[in-house]
Amino acid sequence: MIEEEIVEYYKLLYLRGLSTLLSGNISVRSGDLILITPTSLPKPLLRPEDLVYIDFEGRVVKGTRQPSSEWRMHAAVYRRRPDVGAIVHVHPVHSTLLAERIKPDLFLEGDIYIGGPLAVVPPLQPGTWELAEAVADALARANVAVLKKHGVVAVGRSLAEAVNRVEVVEDLAKATLINLWINSGI
Ligand SMILES: [Zn+2]
Repeated sequence: MIEEEIVEYYKLLYLRGLSTLLSGNISVRSGDLILITPTSLPKPLLRPEDLVYIDFEGRVVKGTRQPSSEWRMHAAVYRRRPDVGAIVHVHPVHSTLLAERIKPDLFLEGDIYIGGPLAVVPPLQPGTWELAEAVADALARANVAVLKKHGVVAVGRSLAEAVNRVEVVEDLAKATLINLWINSGI
């Protein structure tokens, strides 16, 4: 069941230090609806029944919780990218701080996994249509966007692909930092 898959992937993201207890959101496209994580609840403790189905206007179609406050971002990206089946948004520290300084070519497989350029979005108020549209614009030609002073949004055809992209970008950000240390002669 896809609900269980989302819950399990969230645990993995949390255990890898890519998400804090309450932050971030995950969704998958489900026909004309979006299956998305709820707001406020501790994410690694979510149960499949905590997830909600919403339409593209944010109305809850199935489920008892309130959707993530970033549902606009998910809706805007799915509208812009018919090929996208899953979206992951978390707040990994290294990626967020390094943003445009991340060097995808430090790993030979970096570009392959990311599958395009790394987009960067300026700091914008979370939960707004302004942020949602800026992220959708950025992801029109990219699979990962770093939201400055905020976090990362990764898309994929599948949930696994999107989660992997978050991991790869954070690893690349760490590698970029280590590379800076090496080159500074420490
Ligand atoms: Zn966020």
